[in-house]
Amino acid sequence: MTELLHNHLGGRWQAGEGPGTTLRDPVLGTDLVRVSSDGLDLAAGFAFARDTGGAALRALTYRQRAALLGEVGKVLAANKAAYYEIATANSGTTQKDSGVDIEGALFTLGQYARWGDTLGNARFLLDGPAVPLSKDGVFRSQHLLAPTRGLALFINAFNFPAWGVWEKAGPALLSGVPVVVKPATVTAWLTQRMVHDVVEAGVLPAGALSIVCGGSAGLLDALQPFDVVSFTGSADTAALLRRHPAFAERSVRLNVEADSLNSALLAPDATPGSAAFELLVGEVAREMTVKSGQKCTAIRRVFVPEALYGAVGEAVAAKLRTTTVGNPRHDGVRMGSLVGRAQWQSVQDGLARLMGQSQALFDGRDVPLVDADPAVAACIGPVLLGCTTPDEADAVHRTEVFGPVATLMSYRSVEQAQALIRRGEGSLVVSVVAEDPAFVGEAALSLADSHGRVHGLTAEVAARHTGHGNVMPQSLHGGPGRAGGGEELGGLRALGFYHRRSAVQAGESALAALAAQAAALPQ
Ligand code: NAP
Repeated sequence: MTELLHNHLGGRWQAGEGPGTTLRDPVLGTDLVRVSSDGLDLAAGFAFARDTGGAALRALTYRQRAALLGEVGKVLAANKAAYYEIATANSGTTQKDSGVDIEGALFTLGQYARWGDTLGNARFLLDGPAVPLSKDGVFRSQHLLAPTRGLALFINAFNFPAWGVWEKAGPALLSGVPVVVKPATVTAWLTQRMVHDVVEAGVLPAGALSIVCGGSAGLLDALQPFDVVSFTGSADTAALLRRHPAFAERSVRLNVEADSLNSALLAPDATPGSAAFELLVGEVAREMTVKSGQKCTAIRRVFVPEALYGAVGEAVAAKLRTTTVGNPRHDGVRMGSLVGRAQWQSVQDGLARLMGQSQALFDGRDVPLVDADPAVAACIGPVLLGCTTPDEADAVHRTEVFGPVATLMSYRSVEQAQALIRRGEGSLVVSVVAEDPAFVGEAALSLADSHGRVHGLTAEVAARHTGHGNVMPQSLHGGPGRAGGGEELGGLRALGFYHRRSAVQAGESALAALAAQAAALPQ
């Protein structure tokens, strides 16, 4: 039997009961390690995190906690080679794609360490200035942000086992809130190893960082009113969570990052070969193939003017044709596999649904895999679909195929294109690609209410932009509606989720004493 990974709960390593679940190499089909959360005393473990971890973190200042994040980053950086190996084995990703997850985690942690340091020796945050309540201004109201005394539970998706935990743990630990992470089972190994390394290095106070690997049974029952939960995963699981008494009755704060049918819009001023045309084609092909399209931010729907439909389809297909797919250990492979055969089947099923209303402009499923057995490996070539009647199509605006799949659609007017984009019912990100920068500004104002992020692409930023799908810690990550309605990152704005806002009404002198222990939250 393979190694059973241990959980870290209640300040100690604990083995779950029973044989557990086996994690597999999605390319070779071999067994790797096992996880089990059966039989854990979650209530006691959560209490230890709140009482011991939380108290120790809250005793520190923002600057001291920022320094801890810096230490965590050093531990992770020192063990990076092992993380890349685990990612190849358990996620089936190429070195480059593993880097999106692992380097992204380190970069984000580093940013929060730097930003946290600017908050100095404070333990609370001031939310705006004090405003007068009495006519003479002596009696005032000051909004204050205080770290919650609960814990932060992260229920994560399978596609970012490294970044998914640290992009949340950075703001949480900086806020003084202990973390319990429950990674998606299928790729839990990398998260477990990272947490293992950080715990063993002893850089965080006892109880500040815990991990539960395996089934989720009982996790939500162990939550208490001041806890917060950040969920990343499918809309179906999110809907299940929302109905749980922890949220419905005990008002545990819940942040949801879920499915998203992100779009790219090419402006009518583009022509074949123009800067905007080339930017769109490059971005669509990249978004389809990075991490085999298993990115919540990946472009799923591409809207182009009717006259450019054929040219864009051919240009994207030409790029996809050069994408070699197969065993990520092979030097010639540009795209590895999906996380497992179940995900492979789900992508095939999703494609079948979409193909009822669209046609394949390029189908990479016919192309032979490199150094991988198609009967075993969860590898799939990219598929570009096309649809010239997007008004009538429904599935393409509702079905997120979580793999290397996008649908090209033609539009007659900008108004029609924007209406079609909104049929995604709220997305994480939309790219607006144009020759004229003014078009980007106008489209952003029109699409901002239904998107967490608008990525503007013009010739000016062709060599500088950070990529449609890359989540930068400086910018908000999340989206309304179908995307879950959540908000993460966005610089120090992220700290808001882990603090409670309170209005302190008192005299000038009392508020001055309070302000001496607090830092102003940068706007
Ligand atoms: P999932 O099946 O919904 O699982 C997500 C997490 O929820 C896993 O840790 C899973 O644990 C756990 N879970 C399942 N049932 C649960 C329950 N009843 N109670 C508590 N937890 C439960 O999603 P996934 O397949 O891992 O991820 C793919 C989806 O995530 C895609 O739709 C993608 O768009 C979305 N995603 C969104 C973002 C974003 O930031 N918006 C980022 C990444 C992914 P087990 O693994 O043990 O089942």
